[in-house]
Amino acid sequence: MMQNSNISPEVEEQMIDAAYQNLLNGYLSSNHRKKVEIIDKAFKFARDAHKGIRRRSGEPYIMHPIAVATIVSQEIGLGSTSISAALLHDVVEDTDYTVDDIEAQFGKKIAQIVDGLTKISGGIFGDKASVQAENFRKLLLTMSEDIRVVLIKMADRLHNMRTLSSMPPNKQYKIAGETLYIYAPLAQRLGLYAIKTELEDLSFKYNHPQEYERICSLIDASEERRNELFTRFAAPIRERLDNMGLDYTFTVRVKSCYSIWKKMQRKHIPFEEVYDLYAARIVFQCDGEDNEKRLCWNIYDQITEVYTKHPDRVRDWLTTPKVNKYQALHVTVMGPDGDWIEVQIRSKRMDDIAERGFAAHWKYKIGEGEEEKELVRWLQTITDILKEPEPNAIDFLDTIKLNLFASEIIVFTPKGETMTLPKGASVLDMAFALHTDLGTHCIAGKVNHELVPLSYKLSSGDQVEIITSNVDFPKDEWKKFVITAKGKTRLRAALRHKRRLIIDKGEQRFMDFLASHNIEFSNEILSQAISRQFVANKEELFYMIGNDEIQLNEDMITKKEHGARFNWWRRNPFKGKDNHKGDTTQEASQAIDTKKVYRLVTRDGVSNYQIASCCHPIPGDDTVGFLSEDNKVIVHKMDCSTLARLKASYGSRLLQTQWEEYSDRFQASVHIVGIDQKGILQSIVNIISTNMSINMKKMNVTADQGVFSCDLDVLVSDATVVTNLCREIKKVKGVNSATRMS
Ligand code: MN
Repeated sequence: MMQNSNISPEVEEQMIDAAYQNLLNGYLSSNHRKKVEIIDKAFKFARDAHKGIRRRSGEPYIMHPIAVATIVSQEIGLGSTSISAALLHDVVEDTDYTVDDIEAQFGKKIAQIVDGLTKISGGIFGDKASVQAENFRKLLLTMSEDIRVVLIKMADRLHNMRTLSSMPPNKQYKIAGETLYIYAPLAQRLGLYAIKTELEDLSFKYNHPQEYERICSLIDASEERRNELFTRFAAPIRERLDNMGLDYTFTVRVKSCYSIWKKMQRKHIPFEEVYDLYAARIVFQCDGEDNEKRLCWNIYDQITEVYTKHPDRVRDWLTTPKVNKYQALHVTVMGPDGDWIEVQIRSKRMDDIAERGFAAHWKYKIGEGEEEKELVRWLQTITDILKEPEPNAIDFLDTIKLNLFASEIIVFTPKGETMTLPKGASVLDMAFALHTDLGTHCIAGKVNHELVPLSYKLSSGDQVEIITSNVDFPKDEWKKFVITAKGKTRLRAALRHKRRLIIDKGEQRFMDFLASHNIEFSNEILSQAISRQFVANKEELFYMIGNDEIQLNEDMITKKEHGARFNWWRRNPFKGKDNHKGDTTQEASQAIDTKKVYRLVTRDGVSNYQIASCCHPIPGDDTVGFLSEDNKVIVHKMDCSTLARLKASYGSRLLQTQWEEYSDRFQASVHIVGIDQKGILQSIVNIISTNMSINMKKMNVTADQGVFSCDLDVLVSDATVVTNLCREIKKVKGVNSATRMS
C-alpha cells in the first residue's frame, strides 16, 4: 500500500477538516432543515472508527465517507439522515462496530440504512455467477426497503469510480464493467442523469483507455473553434432574451465521451461526422410552474426567429416528459456557420430534475402521488421477480435487467443488439427507431420468428425483424400506432414527403393535359380550376388530381354560349370517402354520360331545381339531376342510393348537372363522435357559431358510457364550408370524427 509519508499529520488533519467543512457548507446552503448536530456526531464517530486506516491511494480512509456524503448532499440533494448514513456507510463493514452500536448512537433509521449498505457492500460480479445473482438480489431487496440505500450506494460507487486509478488494472476492469452493466442503467432509471453520464464515461475510460484518450483529445482540439462559434451563435439570442427581461444562463456543453463514442459505433461514422457533438442550454429562473412552459415556448420563438430550425428535431418533453420525468424543450437550429446546433430550454426546476432526478422531486414536491405510484409499481415488479429467482443465475440477471425499466422495454434486433423503447411501442416504432427508411418502407414485422402487423405491440425480450418492401409508402393510419416521439416526427416528415410527390404528379398531369389540348397555361385557368373544384388552393387541386380524386377528362370540354368554357375535370366518383355504393354508382355515372349539362341556377330566390330530400346535395358535391313526372329537376348526390334505384327504371330521365349561380343556403348534416369530456360541446358550438358564423338549424346530442355523439344540421353555401367545418371540429380535444352525412 502506498504511503504519503511527506504529508504531516497536521496537514492531514487540515485536509480532513476542510473536506468536512465543505460538506457542511453545502448542506447549510440547501433547502433542508439544518440538523447539523447529527451530521457532526456521525462525522466524529466515523473519523474515530476509521482512524489510522488509509485508502489504496494513501489518503486517510475518512476522506472517502466524506466524499460520498458530499455527493449525497450536493449532487443527489438528500438530507441529514442520508448524509449521516453516508458518513457511517463503511463503519460496520470495515471496523469492529456493529449495526447495534450504530442504532444505539444514531437511532433505528440510520442504522437500517447502514445495515442495507453493509449487506450490499460486496461487488455484484463475484467469481461465481450464483454469487453475482445473490449480491444483486440483496441490492434490489434493500432498495425496495428504503430507496435511500441505493441512492447512497450510487454515491459510493461514483466516488470509487472517480478514484479507480489507484486500483490494480484487473480490479479496474471488473468494477468498470459492473458499473456499466448495472449502476449506470440504475442511475438512469432513478433519473440521476448527471451521475449516470459520469459513471458511463468513467467506465468507458477504464474499459477502452485508448479510445477514451483519443476522443478526449479530439474534443479538446475542437474547443477553440467551438467557443468562438458559440459566442457568435449566442449573441443575437442573448440580446433577445435580455429584452424579455429574463434571468437565465446560456451555456454550451460537449456531449459525454461515451455517448459520442457510442454514436460513432452505432452509425459507423468518424468523430468529425458526429454533428450533435455539443448542445447549448438555456436555464431560466421562473417563479411558479404555470409560467414555465409558456416561457420555454417564448424562448423557442425567439431562437427560431433568429435561426432556421431543423424541421425534424424539435423535442417537446414539456407535454410528455420522459419516463424518468425529464422535462425540457429541445430545438435544433442552423448556426451561423451552417452547423446544426441543439438548444435545450429548461427552467431551473426542470434543470434540477434533469440533473438530480428522483431526489429533486422531493425538493419541489411535484406530482408526489404519481411519482410514488410509479416507483412503488416498479419496486413491486422487482420484488415479484425476487420471489421466484431463475435457477440459472445469468438468466435471473437478464430478467432483472429487462425489468429495470418498468415503463420501458428492451427488444433485440436479429443480430442480437438491444434497443430500449417505451412500453407500448409497436413494430413500426422499432422500425423508425432503427432508420427512417426502414420505417417508411416497412410492411410487417417478425416477432420471435412469427409474422405480425406493424401495429403489433412489443414486449421486453422480443426479437424483432422488420420486413420492408420497396414499393410501399407510409400511410396516414400509421399515426394511430406510432407512440415514440422519434417515430411520430419521422412519420410526419415521410407523409409530408409523400404528399409532395403526389402534388408534383398532379401538377404534371394538369400541365400535360393542357398541352395535349393546346391550351396555354395561365393563372386565370388555374384559379378557375381551383374555384370550380371548391378546393382551397393549387396544392389541394394538384393533390386531388395526383391522387386520382379529380379526373381530367377530355370528353368534358364543353362550349358555352359566352365563348369557350372548359370543363376539363371531374371528380372521380370511385375515389374518396363518401363513396361506399360500389357498382350501382358506377352504373349511374355511366348512364348520365351525355353531352348535355343542366345548369343549376337560383335567381331572385327562385331555383330551377329541387334538392332531393334523401341525400341533401349542396354545391361542391357531384350531383345528378332527375327529371320528375311534373318536369322538375330533382338534384341528387351521385352516390345516392335512391338515385341508383330511379336509374334502373328511368335511366333516360337523368341529367348531368352543374352548379352555376346560387345564393341559397343549403342544409347539410354532420355527425360527430368523440370521448365525452368537459367543455366539448361548448367548443363545438363556438366553432360553428363564433368562429365560422354558420347558421345552426338543429343539434342533437347524446352521451352514452363516455361516448359523445352529436347530430348537427347546418345551413351552408357549399360543400367546402362543410368540409372546413368538419376539419375544425375534428381539432377539438376529445373529438374522434366529424363527418358529413347524407
Ligand atoms: Mn464505500
